[in-house]
Amino acid sequence: MRELCVEDCERCPELVDSRSRIVDGVGPPDADLLFVGEAPGENEDESGEPFVGRSGTVLDDALRDAGLDRSDVRITNCVRCRPPDNRDPTSEELANCRGYLETEIDRVDPDVIVTLGKVPSQHLLGRDVAVTSEAGDLSDVTIEGKPRRVLVSVHPAATLYDRSQRDTFEETIARAAGFLDDDGGQSRLGEF
Ligand code: SF4
Repeated sequence: MRELCVEDCERCPELVDSRSRIVDGVGPPDADLLFVGEAPGENEDESGEPFVGRSGTVLDDALRDAGLDRSDVRITNCVRCRPPDNRDPTSEELANCRGYLETEIDRVDPDVIVTLGKVPSQHLLGRDVAVTSEAGDLSDVTIEGKPRRVLVSVHPAATLYDRSQRDTFEETIARAAGFLDDDGGQSRLGEF
């Protein structure tokens, strides 16, 4: 969907210098699950796709274990350009890119938004979030005047060196998939 693609944006001068390209969301424009990460990293900046590389593999594996495929869900980021040295996006950069994310949420209209890590969780919930202890919690929020359900998750990268985080992550993704079952949402792998 072209209207979900951002072209020629230069609102964040440091990110314009550090990016190779703008990394838009991928996946069905009407997906029932929308995953939101923080920002593109090196692999994402090179490939132009969110959550590739090792973190992407962790996400793909958890989706598969939950009966979903990456192509079933939409994946995007709070900011669409890679920050220098993989630093966190600043509050100004998050604000600059917020409109694009809100437009994506509005057009995709997902049943559940899954926030991957602290930055997107705090960005969409509008408060401090202790991600490890709140992972798997569902919150009702209002985004652009519409009610949305946000499911907090640890970042897949956090699972690479901590098995307990992997379990937490997989349980959260399984819970997200369960909402689709509850809602009679999109088909799951193996059922057709
Ligand atoms: S991060 Fe978003 S707002 Fe900032 S330059 Fe990139 S597309 Fe524009």
